[in-house]
Amino acid sequence: APRATKNFIEQAIDADLAAGKAAGVFTRFPPEPNGYLHIGHAKSICLNFGLAKSYDGTCNLRFDDTNPSKEETEYVESIQEDVRWLGFQWDNLHYASDYFEQLYQWAEQLVQDGHAYVCDLDAEKTREYRGTLTQPGTNSPYRDRTPEENLELLRKMKAGEFPTGARTLRAKIDMASPNLNLRDPVMYRIMHAHHHRTGDQWCIYPMYDWAHGQSDSIEGITFSICTLEFENHRPLYDWYCRTLGIHHPRQIEFARLNMTYTVMSKRKLLQLVKEKHVNGWDDPRMPTISGLRRRGYTPESIRNFATDVGVAKFNSTIDVIRLENSVREHLNRVAPRRMVVFDPIKLTITNWPEGKVEMVEATNNPEDESAGTRMVPFSGSLLIGSDDFREEAPRKFFRLKKGGAVRLRSGYIIDCHDVVKDASGNVTEILCTYDPETKSGQDESGRKVKGTIHWVSAEQAVKVEVRNYDRLFAVENPEVAGEGQTFLDHLNPDSLTVTEAFAEPELAESKPGDRFQFERLGYYVVDRDSGEQLVFNRVVPLRDSWGK
Ligand code: ATP
Ligand code: MG
Ligand code: MG
Repeated sequence: APRATKNFIEQAIDADLAAGKAAGVFTRFPPEPNGYLHIGHAKSICLNFGLAKSYDGTCNLRFDDTNPSKEETEYVESIQEDVRWLGFQWDNLHYASDYFEQLYQWAEQLVQDGHAYVCDLDAEKTREYRGTLTQPGTNSPYRDRTPEENLELLRKMKAGEFPTGARTLRAKIDMASPNLNLRDPVMYRIMHAHHHRTGDQWCIYPMYDWAHGQSDSIEGITFSICTLEFENHRPLYDWYCRTLGIHHPRQIEFARLNMTYTVMSKRKLLQLVKEKHVNGWDDPRMPTISGLRRRGYTPESIRNFATDVGVAKFNSTIDVIRLENSVREHLNRVAPRRMVVFDPIKLTITNWPEGKVEMVEATNNPEDESAGTRMVPFSGSLLIGSDDFREEAPRKFFRLKKGGAVRLRSGYIIDCHDVVKDASGNVTEILCTYDPETKSGQDESGRKVKGTIHWVSAEQAVKVEVRNYDRLFAVENPEVAGEGQTFLDHLNPDSLTVTEAFAEPELAESKPGDRFQFERLGYYVVDRDSGEQLVFNRVVPLRDSWGK
């Protein structure tokens, strides 16, 4: 649904369009291919592609692949898959590495114009000379090299004549600037490293700030939307575009998405994968898009979540419940209902005709009439969830108890008259009679009962594996760790419990990715590990506190 008021980014865009400062809305989503995308990226994707869509503009997918040491083709492929799965299609696909030659030409231009110099300070000294927030920096002793000398050195750097880390190219701006990013930022570093696309063609690689704005400029981006950490990089972004005299996009910052009970930095997610705390990037407990997909989230639920949380200028942390509610809300509308029994107990209907199986009609989705109905086998030998029965129960217990009655969903009202116990006194079988006048859909008996429970017919039920996933971390903010601890100390030891369950036979036909509501329990998706036996992942329980 359209929002009543525009957010601050849309207002800025409207103002620029009205003033003729931008010719249209041209955005990009610029991931670094050094990991899988997570829910924070999903927010940025929805924002960038969403703006292009609503303004009838254009959005590029650009791989910000300027750091050869951490980037891999596997990530490039997963990112494309995830963007498409979310429901977006880029207008153009680019790689920052395609601009290496142009960036280098611009670097020579800055050198020739006296705006950049080759510096021989090593990384540590460069940091020392930069100064601090309270102390101005000190000029590098190499700052006053002539353009000719700098050009010659730069060409040698490019030709591979110096070892990794020996020299840098730096913009000559202002070592006393209150903004540390303007204290002669490094543009190029020497790295004899293999790049996933350019191979060994380059041994100097551009820094983020030198590559990013210029890549935006080359593509004709008009609004370069990024997260708040880049707010104090904006003066540098602007300085490069202005000094080069090239197309100048407008950078606008918004608050990144943070969420409770999770970590979102790719470095930490990589650590979880590498150290096998989870089973890969797409483990259903991961906040990655591929993890959420395998968990059973729908693209629509993620897009709705992104719209719902909106964009802000100040950092905050979103309660993960909002994400969970978003998928609940969507699956409630679209997921077919099925009956599945966990932790079963046998229920025998003593007045049911021996051997008779009757097909009863069950509604697929009460929220969606077009979903129709299915037939479910009913017999005298059933299974129900053991927590739906108590031999003795308080008055308010509306499930089944000895001497009580309950409706079997889509079936009949039954009365419990006795139980069978084992030697140690545990109930092993519930004995009931059914009331033939009370068949669902044709009940004219006038009988009313308080509770309805689900069931399966023991003979026809299919045994399935269920992976009950819970939050990966046990605390709201895993980043806050005590003395000598890390976020790993906050892993939730119960984030996965595996059980078997008994499902109505209709489910045997389902395929990986199919999502269902298991009546009265929660939402579940068929996992790709399914073989002979189906495997279901729990997406979310029906309600926050479940088991009712
Ligand atoms: P990380 O810190 O997890 O490595 P990153 O920002 O370095 O993330 P990029 O691949 O550079 O990851 O991100 C691509 C785009 O996604 C950037 O425009 C970035 O601003 C945006 N983005 C990344 N994380 C978030 C987040 N948590 N919320 C919103 N946008 C994000
Ligand atoms: Mg980044
Ligand atoms: Mg990063």
